[in-house]
Amino acid sequence: MLYKNIMVAGIGVLGSQIAFQIAFKGFQVSVYDINDEALDSGKNKIVVLMERYQEDLGATRKEVNAAFQRISFSCSLLKAVSEADLVIEAIPEVVNIKTKFYTELSKVAPEKTIFLTNSSVLLPSQFAEVTGRPEKFLALHFANEIWINNTAEIMKHPGTNMKVFDDVITFAKDIGMIALPLYKEQPGYILNSLLGPFLEAAMLLWLNKVADPQTIDKAWMKATSSPLGPFAILDIIGITTSYNIELAKASETGDQQLKKMANLLKTELIDKGKLGKLTGEGFYKY
Ligand code: NAD
Repeated sequence: MLYKNIMVAGIGVLGSQIAFQIAFKGFQVSVYDINDEALDSGKNKIVVLMERYQEDLGATRKEVNAAFQRISFSCSLLKAVSEADLVIEAIPEVVNIKTKFYTELSKVAPEKTIFLTNSSVLLPSQFAEVTGRPEKFLALHFANEIWINNTAEIMKHPGTNMKVFDDVITFAKDIGMIALPLYKEQPGYILNSLLGPFLEAAMLLWLNKVADPQTIDKAWMKATSSPLGPFAILDIIGITTSYNIELAKASETGDQQLKKMANLLKTELIDKGKLGKLTGEGFYKY
């Protein structure tokens, strides 16, 4: 294996899945998050994942326990990154937060360490300079529920070294992913270039009171034989992430509809603690 020690930054919805999947595949994982509360919440998410791996993949209790033992947790960036061959960043989709994170990371990470971002819509070239190592920086983008939806989009920016790009493709395969290389920067990669407009179209129907979320989902699922409708997908993504994405797009484009959409997510779901599937309730109860 090319890499042994992997640091995952941000143990939220995606970070918890990335950390556990990589540990499950036999790598040592060090998790970094901002405080003990965030780390505890991440550990709880991993405990839920341990059950899912047994239910969905037929993993044994021994295997999931062994995977958990391969994960260490820290809110010291210096400690978490000290041995890392790779860092996978899965912190909030907010430019300032990511910029600050990479600036700090570049000061303490070993020279050999490759930085990967799991960002959904922000482009690697936006952060390449602040990483201090643009040639060792690229995107490795996972889909939610990565142990089942095991695609990994690997996207270079113009300054990424081709060997690093190829090595990360190999790494993606080593951790059980179907590697999907993108040779050019594309906002939203392949998946979100398709999914973004789809989810926005659904939310627009809801915002304009054309139909309720359950009816919209039913229409899509029945007509296309799909297992999930757009609002069930939003619950899996997590409402906060969707809110951040719509808000960022609204402020970038000045689109008032998107702003109203973000506000609706906030007032109808986030303010009521309905943050999506992982928290037990979003558009649906779980
Ligand atoms: P989340 O809000 O669930 O988790 C973010 C985590 O980052 C939290 O644990 C938070 O405490 C932590 N954090 C905040 N600031 C930090 C910092 N400075 N350093 C370290 N940790 C910090 O978010 P998420 O849904 O897991 O999304 C994370 C990233 O993954 C985003 O870029 C998002 O676009 C991307 N992504 C999300 C999905 C999805 O379906 N949720 C899918 C693919 C990619």
